[in-house]
Amino acid sequence: MIKKILLSLVLLLLLVVIILAAGLFFVKNKLNKTANPITVYENFPLEEGKHTIMCLFAHPDDEISIAGTLCQLSQNPQNQIIGIYLTRGEAGGTGGLVPQEQLGEERTKELENLAKVVGYKHLEILGFPDGKLNQAEVDTVKMRILEAIYRYRPDIMISFDDRVGLYGHPDHLLAGKWAKQICEENMKNDSFPIQKLYCPTLSQGMIEIALSIAETFKRNYPQDPEKGLPPASFAVNISSVGECKLQAIQAHRTQKRTFTDVFPLYDQVPPFWYFRLFDKEYFTLQVEK
Ligand SMILES: [Zn+2]
Repeated sequence: MIKKILLSLVLLLLLVVIILAAGLFFVKNKLNKTANPITVYENFPLEEGKHTIMCLFAHPDDEISIAGTLCQLSQNPQNQIIGIYLTRGEAGGTGGLVPQEQLGEERTKELENLAKVVGYKHLEILGFPDGKLNQAEVDTVKMRILEAIYRYRPDIMISFDDRVGLYGHPDHLLAGKWAKQICEENMKNDSFPIQKLYCPTLSQGMIEIALSIAETFKRNYPQDPEKGLPPASFAVNISSVGECKLQAIQAHRTQKRTFTDVFPLYDQVPPFWYFRLFDKEYFTLQVEK
C-alpha cells in the first residue's frame, strides 16, 4: 500500500515537473520569437582589440535593457565603457524614498552605484531637465554630446532607436534621434571616432507580451506596427551575468515600481533562473561608418 502511494506521489511530482518545464519552454519560446531568424551571440560582437563603448541615454536606469551586455563587456579588460546621461531623472517616481526635490540627487547616487556594477569607466550626467528635452536647445544638447564623443573617442555608441525610444518616452526618442543625427552628420569626417551606432530593441514576442502586461508599454507604444521598434538584427545571451543584471536593477532603488512592471517577479525568482528565462538582449545596427 505504502509502495503504491509513494509511486503515485513520484508520478505526480514528475507530471508537475514536466508541466512546469513545458510551460517555461513555451514562455521562453514566445519571449524569443523574432520577425526573422537572427544570430544569438555569447558576447556583444566586436572585432579583436581595444574598444571604447559609449552609452548615451536620457535617464539614470535607461541602461537596464542592456545591463547584461554591459556587465559582459566590462569583464573584458580590452573594453572601456562610458555612460553619458542627458538628465538626472529628477521628474521620475520617488518610490516613496525621498522627497521629489531630492530625487535628482538621489538618482545621481543610484547611477554612481550602477556604474560600479556594470563597470562604467567614466560617467557623466549632462544635467538637462528631465521630461523636458523637447524644450532644450537642440544645438546645445548635440554640441555637449559631440564634445563627450571627442573627449572619450568611442568607436561604438549605443543609444535608443529613433522610432519609439524603446518604449515610447519622449526623452528616449529624442536621445535616439540626436545620437543618429550626430553619427550621420559626422561620420564622413575622418576624425569622428564612432564606427557603429547600435540601439537596444525587443523581440517580436517581448513586444507582444509587454503590450499585454506592462502599463508603461501599453500607454506609449505605437498602435501601428510600422511605426514600432526596429526589428532586432542580433541578440546577446546574458544568462551568465544574471546576478550582475539583478544588481544593476537594484541599484536604481527609487525606480523599483517601473522594474516590477517591466520585469515581473524579478525580485522573487533567483537571478540564476530568472535570467535563464529573460536570457537575451536584442540590438539593431543603426548607422555604420
Ligand atoms: Zn528613461
